[in-house]
Parts: sequence; structure tokens; C-alpha cells
Amino acid sequence: MQIKDLDFYYGDFQALKNINMDIEENIVTAFIGPSGCGKSTFIKTLNRMQDLVPGTKVDGTITLDSDDIYSKDYDVNILRKRVGMVFQHPNPFPKSIYDNIAYGPRTHGIKDSHELDHIVEESLRGAAIWDEVKDKLQRKATDISGGQQQRICIARAIANNPEVLLMDEPTSALDPISTNKIEDLIQELKQKYTVVIVTHNMQQAARISDKTAFFLTGEVIEFDDTEKIFSNP
Ligand code: ADP
Ligand code: ADP
Repeated sequence: MQIKDLDFYYGDFQALKNINMDIEENIVTAFIGPSGCGKSTFIKTLNRMQDLVPGTKVDGTITLDSDDIYSKDYDVNILRKRVGMVFQHPNPFPKSIYDNIAYGPRTHGIKDSHELDHIVEESLRGAAIWDEVKDKLQRKATDISGGQQQRICIARAIANNPEVLLMDEPTSALDPISTNKIEDLIQELKQKYTVVIVTHNMQQAARISDKTAFFLTGEVIEFDDTEKIFSNP
């Protein structure tokens, strides 16, 4: 994704200032920086989640495969399929595990049960949780552990066949073992998807990302290979 001259306002307050960034495919890009510096706002501009907040204004352009995602005729529903999102607090629907994953494909017109079964299995495998849940697909997704719920949310995003996966502090609410699992999973996911992760945890950015953007009061003050960012004295 290419971000050019992006400004973002909540009313009169400018939360993002002149962001220019090229988010490369098939790598992990991490956004770090102190609380309130605009990481969350920025990641949510990438699938137009943040323009749902009343009174906001966006200037500049964001393109995905040369589509201008903020242009008037670009369909936001298609965008949110192409750019999936996972949040800090796992938020599966209060439905069965199966229905959580099948939800997106169903809303896009897939009805054939064999095809849905296939998508559900492949998505759960892609999120490294198939073996744990294959015998309880009818169980409510809110009745499993937090770490498992987060991987269900990742599988739900994968089921839409996205190009980009956005993750806003995906492990902050999880225990260390679940965090490790998701960090390992992210290394798998980048083989297939462009991954963008917001984290307040510098060590995590150093461990799992290829490129790191450092935010400060709405600006990107450094954007480079993660190795270089973390070897700076
Ligand atoms: P971070 O993710 O780095 O903690 P945020 O993107 O959440 O930062 O916030 C950036 C700035 O925008 C902060 O000053 C925050 O208070 C402000 N902000 C975030 N969301 C809103 C909102 N819905 N309305 C008004 N201001 C907001
Ligand atoms: P998260 O880290 O899970 O994204 P945040 O604490 O950043 O959660 O924000 C939670 C919600 O509160 C978001 O929808 C954000 O836009 C909103 N928010 C954050 N700061 C402000 C603010 N200063 N005024 C109004 N809403 C805000």
C-alpha cells in the first residue's frame, strides 16, 4: 500500500501529519511509538475504519494495487475484505466457531456447504488453530481461551481472502504463551499476506517485523529496516 501526504483530523485536532509510506507486500511492518501518537488512527485509515468516527477528515491518498481507497467510487465493503483487521481485544461473534469463519464468505454469496466447509478448514489452518478446534466447530467462539479467540479472529479475516492483514496490538491482551503462538503465526502469515502490526512492545517489533515505523505526535519520525532501527545507538 502507498500512503501519500496523509493528514487526519478529529474535528480541529490533527492526529496524523503528512504521512508518506510504502508498505511492502509479504513482509511485516510494525508501527511503534508512545501512547497517543497516532498508530491506531493510522492503521485504521488503511481500511477506512477510522472515517466511521464522526467529524473526521482525511487528506492525501492511500492506494492499494493502484486503487485509490479514499476515492468516492471505491467500495468500502470490498476494501474491508481486501484489508482485514484484528484488534487488541479478541472480538469473535457470539456464534459458533464455524459461523464466525463462514460469515464473510456467506455475505459474499457463497452458499455451497462443501465450499464453505473447505474455506472454514483452510482459514482455521491458516490461523494455526484447526487442530485445536476441528472437533468443536459448533462450539461458541466466545467460550474458548482468549488466545484461541484471537486466532479465530485471524481466521475470520483470512476467510475473506485478504491481501493485507492489519493487527492493532493483537497480543497486548494475551498471556505469554498465546503471544508466542501469535508471533510465530505472524511469521507464517507474511508468506501470503502483507502484515501490518501496531505494538507498544519494542522487543516484539524487533522480534517479528521486517520494517518499523516510529511515530511521534502524529508524525513518522523514522521508517526503516527493523534491524537498522534497533541497531541505532
Ligand atoms: P495510539 O494508537 O498511538 O495510542 P491514537 O491513534 O489512538 O494513538 O490517538 C492519536 C491521537 O488522536 C490521540 O491524541 C488521541 O487522543 C486522539 N484520538 C484518537 N481517537 C480519537 C477520537 N475518536 N476522537 C478524538 N480524538 C481521538
Ligand atoms: P485500541 O488501543 O484498542 O485501539 P484505544 O484506547 O486507542 O483502543 O481507543 C479506543 C477507542 O476510543 C477508539 O475507538 C478510539 O478512536 C477512541 N478514542 C481514543 N482517544 C480518544 C479521544 N481523545 N477522544 C475520543 N475518542 C477517543
